[in-house]
Amino acid sequence: MNYGFLGLGIMGRAMATNLVKAGLDVTVWNRTPDKCRALVEMGAGAAQTPRDVVVASDVTFAMLSDPAASESVVLGPGGVLDGMSVGKGFVDMTTNDPETDLDLARAVTDEGGRYLEAPVSGSKQPAETGNLIIMAAGDADLYERAKPAFEIMGKMNFYLGEVGQAARMKLVVNMIMGGMMTAFSEGLSLARDCELSPDTLLQILASGALANPMFAVKGPGMLAGEYPASFPLKHMEKDLRLALCLACQQTQITPTAEAAQELFAQAKAQGFGDEDFSAVHKVLGD
Ligand code: NAP
Repeated sequence: MNYGFLGLGIMGRAMATNLVKAGLDVTVWNRTPDKCRALVEMGAGAAQTPRDVVVASDVTFAMLSDPAASESVVLGPGGVLDGMSVGKGFVDMTTNDPETDLDLARAVTDEGGRYLEAPVSGSKQPAETGNLIIMAAGDADLYERAKPAFEIMGKMNFYLGEVGQAARMKLVVNMIMGGMMTAFSEGLSLARDCELSPDTLLQILASGALANPMFAVKGPGMLAGEYPASFPLKHMEKDLRLALCLACQQTQITPTAEAAQELFAQAKAQGFGDEDFSAVHKVLGD
């Protein structure tokens, strides 16, 4: 079985690296070609276009920034569709909205290909250590074919049914995460304003029912004003925006997520989009 990987950003590079290290035959492509070099040194093949990757691969994974990137890589010139043929699989692991994924699924299946959406939960470190949580939906046979690679990239896989359901699940998860981050950030700022020790606040949070890895991992960096990107803030702003669209379609009120999205949008507008999503703290009184 030959695998392809499109998109070698923070997540894609780590995920593709694990596939290569596990001995799989992988061909990679990235819009900025330099990012392929380290993978090629490890034994991956590199292709000039997404089309060439798909032609060389039985199953091609993509991990791109957003719906516009997925559309461009799949539907654009030299894109996935140009290389698609009967029986080939395309697995988009980008966090997209369900409508985009449905459009891409139709385009791929119209060419005889098989389509799976498979967004992930877990950031740079889980991607590096193969501990992602993978939410898949779409072609069930392709899910089975992709499973050995999922088991290298992640620690858990969920098959959620029809195309769109994994995108929805991922957006719900990140909607919760965005609200948790803004609440955490406000708490850190208020504690400081009250002359409470923020380190003691972190200890108290870590010792009780509010303990979670996100507060534990992000807290010290937020107190130090350091925001190296594991999960770029611009992607959290995108995820919250897409989650609000989903809520609107369901006529579900989401006032907390709306407030969080507004804060991430402000942080992005102030130029913090390429920093970690915890940099939302800068608009909440860093
Ligand atoms: P990233 O570091 O910003 O990488 C984005 C990738 O998309 C890069 O390879 C970039 O290529 C490519 N790209 C962007 N626009 C493109 C276009 N128009 N055409 C072709 N390629 C394009 O993002 P990431 O953190 O790896 O995240 C990737 C996806 O996973 C996002 O949907 C994000 O929401 C989701 N996600 C991220 C995390 C996380 O913690 N980082 C966790 C879970 C899910 P260049 O190198 O040329 O710019």
